[in-house]
Amino acid sequence: MEILHLEEAMAELRESFRSTKTRSAEWRKTQLRGLERLLQEKEREIYKALDEDLGKHHTEAYRDEIGILVKSLNLSLNSLDDWMASKKVHVPVIAFPTTGEVVPEPLGVVLIFSSWNFPLGLALDPLIGAIAAGNAAVLKPSEIAPACSSFLAKNIPLYLDNKAVKVIEGGVPIAERLLEKKWDKIFFTGNARVGRIIMSAAAKHLTPVTLELGGKCPAILDHFSSLRDRNVAVKRIVSGKWGLCSGQACVGVDYLLVKEKHASEVIEFIKNWLKKYYGDDPQKSNSMSRIVNKHHFRRLQKLIEDPLVAASIVHGGSMNEKNLFIEPTILLDPPLDAEIMTEEIFGPFLPIITLKKIEDSIEFINSKPQALSLYVFTKDKTFQKQVIAKTSSGSVTVNDTIVQFACDTLPFGGVGQSGLGKYHGKFSFDAFSHGKAVLRRSLLTEMSFGYPPWNDYKLRF
Ligand code: NAD
Repeated sequence: MEILHLEEAMAELRESFRSTKTRSAEWRKTQLRGLERLLQEKEREIYKALDEDLGKHHTEAYRDEIGILVKSLNLSLNSLDDWMASKKVHVPVIAFPTTGEVVPEPLGVVLIFSSWNFPLGLALDPLIGAIAAGNAAVLKPSEIAPACSSFLAKNIPLYLDNKAVKVIEGGVPIAERLLEKKWDKIFFTGNARVGRIIMSAAAKHLTPVTLELGGKCPAILDHFSSLRDRNVAVKRIVSGKWGLCSGQACVGVDYLLVKEKHASEVIEFIKNWLKKYYGDDPQKSNSMSRIVNKHHFRRLQKLIEDPLVAASIVHGGSMNEKNLFIEPTILLDPPLDAEIMTEEIFGPFLPIITLKKIEDSIEFINSKPQALSLYVFTKDKTFQKQVIAKTSSGSVTVNDTIVQFACDTLPFGGVGQSGLGKYHGKFSFDAFSHGKAVLRRSLLTEMSFGYPPWNDYKLRF
């Protein structure tokens, strides 16, 4: 949709919300079913767009985008009546006879900004929450994944109520124009720098925000006595590093912490799994997504150009700008003040940091901004508890990577630098709802202590 018509579009969205149609369960379910049909009928086009933008294999695309969305839609459709129902609460005897309830109401007209790495999933999953909660919505997909952005702009109007749900395409100038408007909620997925811009624009109108940001997600690998367990743990770390969009994932493993004396075995295991996943020449593998564009390719290239960082490469390091390929690369103890260790990597490099004791990982992690996800591989229950209790992050996953993202019963979101607010499952519905307090009293009983004239007896009651 053309930004030229933004005023008109806003007026139409406001009118749709004011008409109260988006509040009905029927409207919400019709839209959610529309999204279901879109995913079914346009599956091939979705794969094509994801391949064009990111070289994503269709199996990975189904697992990480369509599959996640189908699950969200099923859950929302099956739970909507329950989520929409008001919830009775206990009220104190002082208000007797009274009943209290919390009634969820939609926020109004909401704005969703999505990022490019899961350009369908991260656009439509928040939209499912916004619709389930009864809002009108504008979706602004990331311009960095243009095929997926235009897929959404072309198809959403064919399947959803175009007067209440709109897709507006474009880059920063358009994002800035959208941010000048008054919204009832802004839901943003992207980096922390832009997150700050969103928050200050929202502050002008006291608009609530959810910020789904990123950061450096650490994985701690303790030693397992069984060879099988060691192998499974490394396999899961390799999947959590390279198996999602070649490391271009907010929940992907950013760096790995291991005890010094186990590092060389861990590196051999990682190489072994990389070979099983991507063969002898990963450039020929169709299971590795490509770096999204030249800008990000060069950003990643710069991360390992520093001679001290380059010297720490123990595997990989080759790149091909023509097809935006970067080989899975392992670095052993790069300098801690190098950009690769201070900035989110968001690409296929895995720095391994060695420690004298695995317990030192807690202090290491606490010296950095809070992560979106923290992974810890250990059978030691005491160490598991220490990691959970003594660190702060959006989530902690024990003995696996990424699966927390697919669990609708867990809130998904960051803390501190990694984000503000949460979504997924019922948390998405709540992110786009206001829980209105409703109290009903009877006129039958009257208690005089609540009213003047005051006396000592009334105070003591
Ligand atoms: P991006 O470039 O796709 O930007 C996200 C959105 O912000 C886009 O719609 C874009 O148009 C808009 N935008 C960009 N610059 C803007 C500006 N100056 N003013 C207003 N809007 C602007 O996203 P990105 O930052 O490159 O994505 C990568 C980041 O997103 C990483 O940090 C990653 O960890 C994070 N991320 C987080 C999650 C999550 O769920 N927490 C998911 C994916 C990515």
